[in-house]
Amino acid sequence: MQSVTVLFGKPGAGKGTRLSEFLETTDKEFKILSVGNLLRQARSERTELGKKAATYMDAGLLVPDDIINEIVIDGICESSEPIISDGFPRTIGQAQAMLEAGIKPTVVDFYVDDDVVLERAQNRIVCENCGEPYTTNEFKHPKVDGICDKCGGHLCKRSDDSPEVTKNRLDVYKRETLPVLNLFKENHVNVYTINNDNKSEDAKIQFAKLMVE
Ligand code: AMP
Repeated sequence: MQSVTVLFGKPGAGKGTRLSEFLETTDKEFKILSVGNLLRQARSERTELGKKAATYMDAGLLVPDDIINEIVIDGICESSEPIISDGFPRTIGQAQAMLEAGIKPTVVDFYVDDDVVLERAQNRIVCENCGEPYTTNEFKHPKVDGICDKCGGHLCKRSDDSPEVTKNRLDVYKRETLPVLNLFKENHVNVYTINNDNKSEDAKIQFAKLMVE
């Protein structure tokens, strides 16, 4: 059966950062599915998908399930490598589509408080080219200001990291995404919660342990 690990949690919970740290320490090959990065790329290439997604993203809303399921489910089923999914599923409809396709993931739920999310959104910058996240504070500062350590791309603020849109994204998370955890538990999916509030190494170690089990 297809091996899929779902990274779950509020926007700004640190899913992308933990994932990037883990990938630097492993030789294992994974297919990384980041719907947010796929959509941002589609926007910068001005594709039909990108144009459809833009208004939802700028308002901090989720892109409708039919669009998301169409671009994601087949890709998961066809992958020969284990998959790590950052940001899918985010609704009951997406999770049901996943379970109906016979995909039973392992879920890693990164917990953070709302005030941490708001602070992180203010400090976050991302690579325009590869999506790698950085911070304007010392937590994950790029080696050269404004330049991605990984690909040399230009770093910028995300348009949806403003305080208003971040609050909206938190509301959407609680209303539409959080119930997915219960659906998974009802379907006997393993859900592991990691507290990712602090900046200590604990969360990093716990995540790496789960990924090699
Ligand atoms: P992210 O980079 O994961 O924070 O996602 C950025 C934005 O992309 C979200 O606020 C949504 O507008 C959209 N998006 C990402 N993943 C999904 C998803 N699974 N379902 C619907 N919209 C999504």
